[in-house]
Amino acid sequence: MSLELTDVRVTYPDGDRVLTALDGVNLRVAAGQLVAVAGPSGSGKSSLLAVAATLLRPDSGRVVLDGVDAGGLSAAQRARLRLEKVGIVFQQPNLLASLTAVEQVLATHHMRGGSVRRQRRAAAELLATVGLDGKQHRRPHQLSGGERQRVNIARALAGRPAVLLVDEPTAALDHDRGRQIVELLAEVTRQHQVATVMVTHDTEYLDQVDEVVEMRDGRLGALETHR
Ligand code: ADP
Ligand code: MG
Repeated sequence: MSLELTDVRVTYPDGDRVLTALDGVNLRVAAGQLVAVAGPSGSGKSSLLAVAATLLRPDSGRVVLDGVDAGGLSAAQRARLRLEKVGIVFQQPNLLASLTAVEQVLATHHMRGGSVRRQRRAAAELLATVGLDGKQHRRPHQLSGGERQRVNIARALAGRPAVLLVDEPTAALDHDRGRQIVELLAEVTRQHQVATVMVTHDTEYLDQVDEVVEMRDGRLGALETHR
């Protein structure tokens, strides 16, 4: 398994009480598998991604990335583990306005090293993978919302992660573009053999994914299984 969350519990301080955001969550995702976590706003989806990304330490439970237990690691070791193993697609495409698509990919840490020509070729290949062939010299304002999301996905794949974490990728998109993004995630999950978790409050495109689990008040339950 590329991602294993076992009995994960996360709380946040809430005045003089605590708010339980994740309440004994178990999740296993294999290489080449796309799992959707569906659930309403406030149910704990982003907290789940933050824990899986090792950005947030759980109160208890285990987080294992590509065989490495994040539990005993220092903050610096977790940062390294994250860099090596995790690609993150945030809800808002975090692109720099002045850079072209290929420059956005080249700006990631992972594209450093090697000759400039090689780097540019690798970045162009990644953009082709996400369907942006021919648009690599466009800046964000010359791309549609769906295309910007594609650049974001290309960036997340640049480090050849074992685990790809995607937060609400269809939230800002119309129906067709939303569907295309989920189709793309299914495709890159298989092509790159990455373990992908996509969280969404949108239940519209879930026929594209391998498994759907439902988040309710910090608890995960089975919804249905495809394929
Ligand atoms: P979702 O992504 O499904 O909307 P979140 O994981 O963002 O859910 O939030 C789950 C619960 O935890 C919500 O009640 C939210 O208000 C609360 N929460 C999230 N982040 C924090 C935080 N940093 N501090 C306090 N409460 C938080
Ligand atoms: Mg969220």
